[in-house]
Amino acid sequence: MPEGPEVRREADIISSALTGKVIKKIWAEYPELNKNIALFQGKRVKNVFSMGKALLIEFPGSKYIYSHNQLYGKWFVIPAGESLQTNRQLRLSLVTSDHQALLYSASIIELLDREQFKNHTYLTNLGLNVLDSEVSEKAVFKRLKESRFSRRQLSSLYLDQKFLAGIGNYLRSEILFFAGLRGDKIPKNLDDKTIRNLAKHSLTVARRSYKSNGSTLTASLRKSRKAKSRFSVFARAGKECLLCSTKIKKIYVNSRRLYFCPTCQK
Ligand SMILES: [Zn+2]
Repeated sequence: MPEGPEVRREADIISSALTGKVIKKIWAEYPELNKNIALFQGKRVKNVFSMGKALLIEFPGSKYIYSHNQLYGKWFVIPAGESLQTNRQLRLSLVTSDHQALLYSASIIELLDREQFKNHTYLTNLGLNVLDSEVSEKAVFKRLKESRFSRRQLSSLYLDQKFLAGIGNYLRSEILFFAGLRGDKIPKNLDDKTIRNLAKHSLTVARRSYKSNGSTLTASLRKSRKAKSRFSVFARAGKECLLCSTKIKKIYVNSRRLYFCPTCQK
């Protein structure tokens, strides 16, 4: 499933095609939107942005098209007038004079006004967004110390969007690797220095993935001869750790795969 960095990169691509442009034609496999087509057709897109794993297209008068891709949804941006060869089912299309932004396959699509945007169950339950530049290490540190989070195992905490938004399964393994911590650790039992280090990597690993096309590796790790994937531990079970050569282990926690280095992570 795409995680925060992938959804934000997708939002960047859709934004460069739509933001500031007039929507000439819109179609959705979603009756509520088709009933309200006048709110969008002929209107200029104000903004396209991501929140956690949701994507929002903002129109004048605080009207939003909300979509969440879940497992299968996928956006494509192609030139206007061209068609896409795919077996996927089209759910939403927005056409400008230059581009078409097309959303295919099972996704949640909703139409939101200002109030619905403010009170949306998914959006209001999102924790700190790791990709928002105003979110600081200090804020993540404070969050790790909050009693509602500090008593939980890191492996469960790092999949909870209420804690930090935008982190999913690969980022969970990668952040814990760079922080040198096993998934069964509990913030309450860690010293401040360790928590500060974890807070730092929670942001830097996610932001590195956003900027480096999904790779969480640092520039120096990317040069390692062992670095054959975009990850340090995720999906590398049985392969050598990039730092210490110990074999990477895979376990299941919260019924999701978790990878770690038994030597580097304590
Ligand atoms: Zn290692």
